[in-house]
Amino acid sequence: MEDRWDERDAASYVGPIAQCVYCTRLIGSDPALVLHGGGNSSVKAPFPDITGAEVDAIFVKGSGWDMATIEAPGLTPLRLGRVQELGALDELSDVDMMRELDAARLDPAAPSPSVETLLHAYLPHPAVQHSHADVIVTLTNLDDGDAVVRDLYGDDVVIVPYVMPGFDLAREVRQRWASEGRDDVVGMVLLNHGLFTWGSDSAEAYRRHVQLISRAEAWLDEHAPSPAEVGPAAKSLVMTELAALRRHLSEAAGHPMIVQRHTGDAVQRFVNRDDLSDLATRGPLTPDHVIRTKRAPLIGRDVDEYVADYHRYVDHHRHRARTTVVELDPAPRVVLDPTVGMLTAGRSVKDAQIAADIYHHTIPVLERAEDHLGGYRALPAGDLFDMEYWALEQAKLQRAGKHPELAGQVAVVTGAASGIGRACAAALLDRGACVAGLDRSAGVATTFAGPGWLGVEADVTDDDAQQSALEATVEHFGGVDIAVVAAGVFPTSAAIAALSADEWRSVMAVNVDAVAGLFRALHPLLALSPTGARVVVIGSKNVPAPGRGAAAYSASKAALTQLSRIAALEWAADGIRVNMVHPDAVFDTGLWTDELIAERAARYGLTIDEYRRRNLLGAEVTSADVAAVVAALCGETFRVTTGAQIPIDGGNERVV
Ligand SMILES: [Zn+2]
Repeated sequence: MEDRWDERDAASYVGPIAQCVYCTRLIGSDPALVLHGGGNSSVKAPFPDITGAEVDAIFVKGSGWDMATIEAPGLTPLRLGRVQELGALDELSDVDMMRELDAARLDPAAPSPSVETLLHAYLPHPAVQHSHADVIVTLTNLDDGDAVVRDLYGDDVVIVPYVMPGFDLAREVRQRWASEGRDDVVGMVLLNHGLFTWGSDSAEAYRRHVQLISRAEAWLDEHAPSPAEVGPAAKSLVMTELAALRRHLSEAAGHPMIVQRHTGDAVQRFVNRDDLSDLATRGPLTPDHVIRTKRAPLIGRDVDEYVADYHRYVDHHRHRARTTVVELDPAPRVVLDPTVGMLTAGRSVKDAQIAADIYHHTIPVLERAEDHLGGYRALPAGDLFDMEYWALEQAKLQRAGKHPELAGQVAVVTGAASGIGRACAAALLDRGACVAGLDRSAGVATTFAGPGWLGVEADVTDDDAQQSALEATVEHFGGVDIAVVAAGVFPTSAAIAALSADEWRSVMAVNVDAVAGLFRALHPLLALSPTGARVVVIGSKNVPAPGRGAAAYSASKAALTQLSRIAALEWAADGIRVNMVHPDAVFDTGLWTDELIAERAARYGLTIDEYRRRNLLGAEVTSADVAAVVAALCGETFRVTTGAQIPIDGGNERVV
């Protein structure tokens, strides 16, 4: 294990709490040790009370903080004596434990502390660090895991058989400590779970973590070489196959899901193993993962069979729960298939990515254990059920607010790097959709940041470029539910008599031909949307009220409107709604320069401000106004509206 301790960095973290922050980040930033919110740490130190007195306290990682990015406010201060009193009880439900821990906080604004707080407080050492290291779960998911660990570490560690985290685990450790907790013990291996180390300060606890993990790595390198980093090449997949599978997964979940495809070497090697369906369904590396990945992946593509299995699993174990079981959605979060590779699914792209990160760490552990160490053996399904339906997890789900309106949905927006297209992409991202933005500008890649954005440089008049942009979208998000057609050109003013044939053709090529091509390519994907797809086309006021000097533009937008109306007719049977908006005088886009606005204003004998607001309401129309209507058209409010044309122009006498 890489020792990430850096004297110079460490020197800027002064005092026990700051040093705990530093060491927590060292562990948290190593994905081989913890992933996404796993692991925790603590330090016992005095808390300066407002009266000037010092209170004996323990600072424990708070929930909602990631070890990799924790700051001092992420370590919750608690009254140490009170926490130790709780830890001395013989019985305490986890729900009561969390309530009492919240009440023992010395700062009510601090987050709820880790569910492993009682254990941290019980250990008679000032600093404690805890990870779910890959190598520890490799060694402990074996038939003879405890013997291997004892052989490797001798009496340097206490070994604790698997017990649910929370009060039961704290009590188990307390009972073992009486006979095994000698002064020279430096850590504790929790079978099927992870590693604790401690010390007189966080630096020592971290150093011991490095030493124990490095010993496990050396042992594994000797007994179980890492799998080779090669695998058979990924097979190409027809977009509609993937979109159909996403639809099926979403229907099983009861809501649309983002589905991401992964075809790296390790995945390809793993999904082509003969024993895939046996090895991959034995259970996760540690019960924590069930919340993210479910107990087992779907092997192959029979979603219905997976769902039936899941119901059986819940019914079989329901009696174990200490609270009323609200069954979770039965859809798999990881799919393994020799042709598809690996798919991960989630209500948000972040959830799909977390499932992928966990599974990328799972694959080599399964292979090493199975191929070299006598076989991978996970915990029985009952223990995994206990974690999946833990009262604390169920309560967390009930507390979680509503998902954003477009969560789990995928939008394609053309012309997304600037102007109305960019504003539409922003509005859809705001409402929880993932957005693939197409634009001929290379800047589209970074128009927005974050996992929900995929910027693809593509000229919409190039059918092949458009096709590969859609393929990238489907590989990245699983399908398409929404399309917003915003790419367009607005040529300089020219009377018909002076209009060149080239000009006419180039306007038609972008504003009409490219959209016909896009519709052709999109339709099979839209028809597979689990929610009923929506298309919104950006037309123009010039459709109902054309202007002199804008023949090519007005004619192109009129043709585009007719194309869209026919799409509304033809696609209604597939549940696809197609609507148009007709904006006017949206000046905050790339199309309008200050000089152009001044020239137009002068032509009408108006000031610039009068020209900007020359509509019935006297309102300035912005690209954000257009985007808000577009996003609303994609939402439930317009559930039964298709073929509509909505003006966004401040009111225009020729349109009204
Ligand atoms: Zn843990």
